[in-house]
Amino acid sequence: MAELCVNSVLVTGANRGLGLGFVQHFLRMPNPPQWIFAGCRDPKGQRAQDLQNLASKHPNLVIIALEIADPASIKAAAAKVGERLGGSGLNLLINNAGIVKPKTLEAETLEDMTETYTTNTAGPLLMGQAFLPLLKKAAQGSPGSGLSCSKAAIINMSSYAGSIEDMYVWEFGQVVSYRCSKAALNMLSKCQSLAYKEHGILCITFHPGWVQTDMGGGGGSYKPPLTVDDSVQGMLKVLSSISEKETGTFLDWEGKVVPW
Ligand code: NDP
Repeated sequence: MAELCVNSVLVTGANRGLGLGFVQHFLRMPNPPQWIFAGCRDPKGQRAQDLQNLASKHPNLVIIALEIADPASIKAAAAKVGERLGGSGLNLLINNAGIVKPKTLEAETLEDMTETYTTNTAGPLLMGQAFLPLLKKAAQGSPGSGLSCSKAAIINMSSYAGSIEDMYVWEFGQVVSYRCSKAALNMLSKCQSLAYKEHGILCITFHPGWVQTDMGGGGGSYKPPLTVDDSVQGMLKVLSSISEKETGTFLDWEGKVVPW
């Protein structure tokens, strides 16, 4: 299978977990992107130490200050990325950043519902809007008429927990605000796929598997089945193979269709 080959990529929430995994895998590719933009809330802080170490060794890695719950931060990030790219566009936007508030239905609050929706759903919406001109530019600059991740794509990191049909691991955690925010993110991805198709931009929503990260857990008695490396490797393989047939779908890290 052909390896994913992109000129430029932006990953949100890139300082730890799956976001950092994506950055590491892009850097290790035989043909790494010319630009890897790593969105991070506090680029100079302790939590960005891994990214800072990588950026000191890889000139194609650029750390971008990015708080996805803040429209001004998103706009400033889009301007910075545009500046770095010069005249060219952005091929791949990976809306990876997300939060979870582990609450039962009974204990759920307006504050948590609002914060989770703002980060997990409105954030990817605003990112898509702000980076649309750069994604369009990438699509226009790529040869061929079909859709692909090498051309221009938005990848939204959702979760099987947002599947209404399956209600995945309900017994393990109700996480109501998280489930609602990811179900809404799935709808957003479908809307983006329909609206952005004419611009040559592929859009999908992804379940990364249950992964050993701060969010996925692993500190307790139960260890999630997947490592960050396995999950990211799987997702990159999927990204390298999808085309217009898959735009608007909900896929997992192995490329299997997830029920809505
Ligand atoms: P982590 O909790 O390990 O990392 C989350 C990342 O998102 C961090 O970099 C965090 O930054 C960033 N982030 C959170 N809120 C914001 C914000 N408002 N603005 C910018 N960045 C923010 O999560 P994972 O790596 O496990 O998850 C990544 C994605 O995959 C999420 O969308 C999650 O819902 C999804 N997912 C994960 C699963 C798993 O098993 N791990 C399963 C299903 C889906 P900071 O360090 O500043 O907090």
